Amino acid sequence: MSVSLRLKAPVVLPCDPACSVLRDAVVDVDADGRIVHCGPSAAAPELPEGAQLRELTGILVPGLVNTHAHTPMMPLRGLGGDLPLMRWLTEAIWPSEAKMIDRDSYDGMLLGSVEMLRAGVTTSVEMFFHGEHMAQAVLDTGGRVLLTPGILSAPGLERLGTWQQLAEETTRWIDTDGLRFGPGERIELGYGPHSAYTLPPEAIAEISQLARDRGALMHIHVAETLAEDEKQRSEHGSVPQLLEKIGALGGRVLAAHAVHLSDSDIEIFQRYDVAVAHCPNSNAKLASGTARLLDLLGANVRVGLGTDGPASNDDLDVWDEVRLAALLARLDRGDAAALTAPRALLLATRDGAASIGRSDIGSLEPGRWADVVHVDVDSPAFPRGTDAPDVQLLSNLVWSAAASQVTDVWVAGQHVIADHEPTRVDRAKAQAEVRRIADRISS
Ligand SMILES: [Zn+2]
Repeated sequence: MSVSLRLKAPVVLPCDPACSVLRDAVVDVDADGRIVHCGPSAAAPELPEGAQLRELTGILVPGLVNTHAHTPMMPLRGLGGDLPLMRWLTEAIWPSEAKMIDRDSYDGMLLGSVEMLRAGVTTSVEMFFHGEHMAQAVLDTGGRVLLTPGILSAPGLERLGTWQQLAEETTRWIDTDGLRFGPGERIELGYGPHSAYTLPPEAIAEISQLARDRGALMHIHVAETLAEDEKQRSEHGSVPQLLEKIGALGGRVLAAHAVHLSDSDIEIFQRYDVAVAHCPNSNAKLASGTARLLDLLGANVRVGLGTDGPASNDDLDVWDEVRLAALLARLDRGDAAALTAPRALLLATRDGAASIGRSDIGSLEPGRWADVVHVDVDSPAFPRGTDAPDVQLLSNLVWSAAASQVTDVWVAGQHVIADHEPTRVDRAKAQAEVRRIADRISS
């Protein structure tokens, strides 16, 4: 396929395994929105007539991947902000979610998708309810989502249906529309059994089979806090052991949080290639603990970064997760080299994509979708702009740059953020809708 768009910048970070820094480089995109070439300008093929050339002044990076979120919770931000997980859920969140109506999932997802895109986060893995509204919101902003509609039995949420009904809805959707669909395959579907503490073991076993049969991701909370799964731990040793025992592992499984893992739990994850969505900000805010990131990486467990819901973080900024993941890993080992800046950046890009079983996003390589982010360097965070040597430039990006320096974003080659603002939806209107929902929930 021939090139229809060329993005040219002084620095391109393809996020290959070595985290190479390309100087004066281009990313060529075809009409379908896939990358056909990424490399130094000098070696780039001639640009065909009619192709668009976009010359940028900063750094191009792949869109970041948020591997764990509940984005429609936007109106709930700040509720129960000083409570521990179980009280936060039962006293603040579930009662408020019970007041949310179907359409609220659209408005919350729309504003959250805009927030993420403006921060350079092009893909999120979502667990919430009324998935059809969430998918529509992402199609409207032009983002990308791996949508795993939530399946649980929780007090106050009975109106959503039984776990069997919720699982059946997802199965029907996948069997009707396919696993991936939409322009640029923007939507992928998967299963979101909430956790072992909100579902009986037979539910998780059955849902895991449905997911395996369809090659779908199973996205589940595991070992977030010590208090949540006392019953499962006393009966089965741990939730990973329970999942192994009931035959729920072996397909595409993403364990969110995975804070309280023993060595043998990590071995189970290694054995079944279970991936982890590491959510350091949420885990710190709820005082849940710190996941054993370096032990997981050392065991070759795939790890991505997640923000968790906007009411438990309280933002959707994956750059923050990059920094905190690196800080905590360094503190844990008392070693400032324990997790380097380039390694931390890869967690949010290439590794994040791998953790959700996607080899078509997360890096700027031919064949992958052109999910590309431009970071402006005209800022105190970059004292030498793009002229800094590679190591300093990566340091500036990871330790000092902020989401607010993302100026432009393309998803599947489509320009969805231009000069900080969404090109397809009205940000002020999206904000006003969430305000309206938040007012209704608190009244
Ligand atoms: Zn969560």
